[in-house]
Order: sequence, then structure tokens, then C-alpha cells
Amino acid sequence: MALERFEVFGDAERRRAQWARLSARLPELQRDNPFYRAKLPNAARDLRDLPFTTKSELSEDQAAHPPFGSNLTYPIERYVRLHQTSGTTGRPLRLLDTAESWDWWRECWQPIYRAAGVTARDRVFFAFSFGPFVGFWSAFAGAERLGALCLTGGAMTTTERVAAIMATEATVLMCTPTYALRLAEAAREEGIDLARSALRVSIHAGEPGASIPATRERIEKELGVESFDHTGATEVGAHGFSCSARDGVHINESEFIAEVLDTRTGEARDEGEGELVLTNLGRWCMPVIRYRTGDRVTAVRGSCSCGRTLLKLAGGIAGRVDDMVTVRGVNVFPSSIEAIIRRFDEVGEYRVELATVREMDELHCTVEAPAGIAERVADAIHRELGIRCKVETVASGTLPRFEMKAKRFHKTNV
Ligand SMILES: [Zn+2]
Repeated sequence: MALERFEVFGDAERRRAQWARLSARLPELQRDNPFYRAKLPNAARDLRDLPFTTKSELSEDQAAHPPFGSNLTYPIERYVRLHQTSGTTGRPLRLLDTAESWDWWRECWQPIYRAAGVTARDRVFFAFSFGPFVGFWSAFAGAERLGALCLTGGAMTTTERVAAIMATEATVLMCTPTYALRLAEAAREEGIDLARSALRVSIHAGEPGASIPATRERIEKELGVESFDHTGATEVGAHGFSCSARDGVHINESEFIAEVLDTRTGEARDEGEGELVLTNLGRWCMPVIRYRTGDRVTAVRGSCSCGRTLLKLAGGIAGRVDDMVTVRGVNVFPSSIEAIIRRFDEVGEYRVELATVREMDELHCTVEAPAGIAERVADAIHRELGIRCKVETVASGTLPRFEMKAKRFHKTNV
């Protein structure tokens, strides 16, 4: 596969190209965008001269200037689409796009599909309810731009989606990792083996699963596909994709500037471990500059076996910065627990509870699995994460099922 020029940029070339695009737009934002007029300095020589943008700033701005806030570069009649964040962390943010920025979203999907080998010959099924969340709308528009046949799975039950995938001979599946496994489970209940369907590729977002080897292998086995991870955010854009190496997610550095913030020192760097900070370079109607995504990543530079020099988030997005829990002094992300549990073929759905009992943290895990496996799961968690975890088995079908982002991690105080 031939790579685009931006995918093999050297460091200096990349920085020059990114700053050229950003700096060309700063005067317009200073003149026409009230939110950034108040934030941007008069003279900036490079990215690091610009201030960070946080979600709470955007949220407070929308509360102060309802309903869309003041991060608007153009008169409201130029805007054509509204999307919202899920609101899992605070009140939902409203994000607007113009025809031009929606076009940019579609273009941002092209490297994602290309890296997964999706072409105009594919039939892409979107197992998604098409609510206000932008992710799959933009993916749909991007697949249409690619020339693929786009099949909506909106307003369908899981069983109806399985039937639609079979009937239309869909070749590509778009959904959360959790929902891919749910589809396979529902298919089995109907006596259908999705591994024998026409599906050959799946692209997942919303959770890190497709970058967690054990989860990805399970999806690949149960659906008979090759699975890829994708990262994006309603406030920012469709920014990352996994390549043939599938050990993480590359950032599309043609359209996004990525930095990693060390949250202890406040220092932003080009790589390393910390919070992912992104600037988008094509949504000038409602831009984000140095936006603190809240996503915890380990970002590495250097060339990848796929040939790209794009920044890579090793293992995808580890979780939200505030998802991390500390169990008796050990930092744990829900994704590290998932990575272990998913390796046990006998385990279906699972749930993890962190309870603070008399000021001591206790980790408690419930798995749908045959009795007798509990000890093996607990041993693996202890061996690999260094924490003790009570594991309990329950019958298959006991725990809740999810369509969008799964909520398997719960915190309680006892
Ligand atoms: Zn790569």
C-alpha cells in the first residue's frame, strides 16, 4: 500500500507543515472567534506559546453563552450540523460543523479506512443507533466518500442487526468492541455463526478493546474478521487509526497536532506518557487548540513496521485520566484488567467493582463463566498487576449487555 506524504514526514517537516496551517488561521480566530479572541496571545512564534483548552472551559462557555457557546468563528447560519458529547463526564457539549468542516471530517476518515484495507468494493455495516454522538455519523459519511456501500444499523435490535449483516453480505463492521462480541453472542443464540459471514474487517471505537490483544483476538475469532482500532472525539475529530502492526493507534498528524502532557509537571512533550493533547487543523468553525482530551496515553515516535512515521499511541488509549484507580498503592486502568480477563475463553461478560471498605481498597470481579475458573483469573490478576482481586463466577446472561461504551467498572464506598 502506497503511503501518503504526511504519513512518512520527518520531525522537522511535520512541525513546519503543522505550524504553517495553524498560524495561517490564528489571525482569523483572533478577529472572529470570541472564545479564542479572549484566549490567544497577540504574538505566537510556535505552538507552545498558545494556551491549553480544557473541556470545562468549553462547558462553562456554553453555559455562559447558551446554547452553543462563543467558540464560533462564523455567523450561525453557516453551520449545518449539531453533535453532542455523551455527557458521561459532566453536561453534554454541543459541537457545530459547517459544510466545510463536515467535509474535513469525511477526509479524516480516508486514512483510517485505507489503513484497514477498506475500499469502494466494501459494504460497511454501522451497528449504531445514530443518536447525537458524532462518531459513526462521520464514519458513515467517510465511507460514502470512499465509495463503499453504506448500510445503517440504526433503530434495530441486536438480532435484527445480525440478520441485516447476513442478508446484505456486509464485509466491514463498525461498532464498539463490546458490541462486536454482543453481536456474535446474539448470532449464536439464533444459530448463526458470524465467523462464516461475509464480514472480513471490523473497525472499533469508543473503548480501547481493539488495541487490547486478548479482546481483539476474541473479536477476530468470533466474527472471522481482522479488527482495527480507531480513536476520535466529538470535540476534536476522527484522529487515530491502527495500522498493520496493530499494536496501537497512529495519530493523523496531517490534520491534528498531538502533544503529551505530563500532568504532574505541566510540561508538554512530543512523546512519552501522559494526557493526550490535540489541536485540530480543519475545523476552523469551532476549533480546539491544545485541547486536553483527558485520555491517558503512552505515545512513541520513530518509524513503525507499517512504514509510517506518525506518532503512535502504544496500546491505543489506555483509558481516561480519571479512570485510573489506585489499589493499595498500585495504579490500575480498567483496560489492564480487561487485557487479562479477556484471555480466558470461558469468560463472557464481566464486571469490576472497586470498593473502599474501611479506607482499604478492595477489587471485586464478577465474571460470567463456569465455576472453578475464579481462582485462575484471580491468580493472573495478582501475578500481572500485583493486586489481590476477589473473583466470583455467575451464570451466562446475568450481567448487563451494552451497545455503546460499556460500563463495567464501578466504584463504591462502603
Ligand atoms: Zn504503523
